[in-house]
Amino acid sequence: MNEADALRAAALLESAGLRPVAHADDASFLLLNTCVVRQQAEDKALGRLRHVAELKRRNPDRVVALMGCLVGRISREQDALHGRFPFVDLFLPPSDLRPLQRFLRERGFPVPDDMTHDDFLPPPLPDSQTGRSIVAHVPVVLGCSHACTYCVIPYRRGGERSRPSADILAEVEALASRGVREIILLGQIVDRYGLDRPGEIRLPELLRRTARVPGIARVRFLTSHPRWVTPELIAAVAGTPGLCPYFEVPVQAGSDAVLAAMRRGYTVAEYEALIGRIRAAIPRAGLSTDIIVGFPGETAARFNDTLALMDRLDPDMIRIAKYSPRPLTWSARHLPDDVPDTEKERRRVALEAALRERLTRKHAPLAGQPVELLVETIEKTGRRYGRTPDYKPVFVEGSDAAPGDLLQARLTWAGPFSFIAEPA
Ligand code: SAH
Repeated sequence: MNEADALRAAALLESAGLRPVAHADDASFLLLNTCVVRQQAEDKALGRLRHVAELKRRNPDRVVALMGCLVGRISREQDALHGRFPFVDLFLPPSDLRPLQRFLRERGFPVPDDMTHDDFLPPPLPDSQTGRSIVAHVPVVLGCSHACTYCVIPYRRGGERSRPSADILAEVEALASRGVREIILLGQIVDRYGLDRPGEIRLPELLRRTARVPGIARVRFLTSHPRWVTPELIAAVAGTPGLCPYFEVPVQAGSDAVLAAMRRGYTVAEYEALIGRIRAAIPRAGLSTDIIVGFPGETAARFNDTLALMDRLDPDMIRIAKYSPRPLTWSARHLPDDVPDTEKERRRVALEAALRERLTRKHAPLAGQPVELLVETIEKTGRRYGRTPDYKPVFVEGSDAAPGDLLQARLTWAGPFSFIAEPA
């Protein structure tokens, strides 16, 4: 989502005539986009901001803009931000570039003036990326209203809003005309697309229409919430060429007690039943999940339940995060952060080691097998990089395929987290 927001900001700046430079110190306009989903991300943003403050001190004429979840959507907090970061000239909430548009217009730059929507979304791809971006992220649901007890996103990105499908499809066409071949539709609970807009189409139909746009070879969507993955969605993925057999469905924990404290709205058994339905319909579906370790009340025994679930589930990827209390969230206000960091780290390492070992075993028999990848980039060594339909990263040696090509290859090496292949 942040990548999509940042590219839009770049597109708006380029439409005003600005051009990218290689080094931040050469820039007359600096924009820093930020994530605060975990303390670690916020610390990183604050570290970068200290560097930006130094760049501003060296050249006070340059404009500094701060964007994203560190800013948030609540203006009361933006006043406090001014006091905290006096070197910042412009604050931008996540996924809303109207303040940047106003700022540029006030200074006489010719910028597009589509103010009709709640969240102003300018051209999705900067000129400097045309022909270079093979994969593009397209936000379709902004914000989130689910309020999982650990999660800061609703407080930072605001409540759930679906974008009109006509806007989304026009944007996909524009992206396709600029060389984009794969579209990833984004939402915090992407499966809820359209539910807040009476008369709007739903995600399965949006995916089908996206896949029909000329030039688009592949379509994905993320993130799914286990309660909102419908049979219609599974059927659409199973039955539509170009819709990739890949589901990103965070489970967050393998213990019903922890899931209840997170207010996720499902049990472990319900989650497993859903994954069973996906795999029954699409046997080759890739599955990625998110796990938070060290949530308040996660005893060692409850963590072992998560390890056991991962064994039964056999996911293709796990994004593991150590719990960190976030401002305003229910868990930060009401639940003691009672798992020490050393223990959180132990659990993270244990889960990662288990994943690595299982993927090593699971992937070994794939050596020699054919795969299709969409070439995204060419490495300095000449290897072609791309992903399979189920989202496995592949490096192809000895190929002359161009970015954007669908390449048939044969795997020569299968590791836990990537593959090497040769042209088939
Ligand atoms: N909407 C998605 C993704 C949210 S953010 C979902 O939750 O279903 C991406 C991931 O960050 C989450 O899946 C979760 O695993 C992690 N995360 C969010 N808040 C966190 C917190 N307070 N501490 C640690 N990890 C967190």
